[in-house]
Amino acid sequence: MGIILDKFPLIAKAIPGGQVVLTSTDYIIDLGRKYSLWPLTFGLACCAIEMMVAYAGRFDFDRFGVIPRPSPRQADLLLIAGTVTKKMAAPIVDIYHQMPEPRFVMAMGSCANCGGPFYDSYSVVKGIDRIIPVDVYIPGCPPRPEALIYGVMELQKKIMRMKLERGGGATVQAEKGSRDPAGEDA
Ligand code: SF4
Repeated sequence: MGIILDKFPLIAKAIPGGQVVLTSTDYIIDLGRKYSLWPLTFGLACCAIEMMVAYAGRFDFDRFGVIPRPSPRQADLLLIAGTVTKKMAAPIVDIYHQMPEPRFVMAMGSCANCGGPFYDSYSVVKGIDRIIPVDVYIPGCPPRPEALIYGVMELQKKIMRMKLERGGGATVQAEKGSRDPAGEDA
């Protein structure tokens, strides 16, 4: 499927009126992705409690199509909530690579963003963007469920700007950002 999506812009542009078909296809695919974000929930510390609250009755995350998955094979969003220790860095990178493209990452809370209150600790990764690329950062210690929902809405806006022509298909893209599975530089 990914190869078909990646080749589709070339085929569409070769036929008369193909750009209209391409734009419509982009819109439909983006809409599908926007309303079916399945996060692999990665609760590591206190922020995870706020994340769990977002799934509960009052905030009802399901209405955004956000359905938590227990397997990276079925997830397209890695939601890191909490303090990432250097010991945990390598498993996070492994899990990230097990997720299918296109995959997104959200850092929830100061700890995931930059180390938070444990910035000076020898054992804490000073932001998960040191080990995997991050799409949306949610500030706060901890951020409230409303902030998480706002973060998802920002990610949805980003998804709606994805174009097949610019590599928004489903095959693995050239990855950018630092990669340090051992967390040595973190
Ligand atoms: S950012 Fe604050 S609330 Fe969230 S995991 Fe770190 S210490 Fe806990």
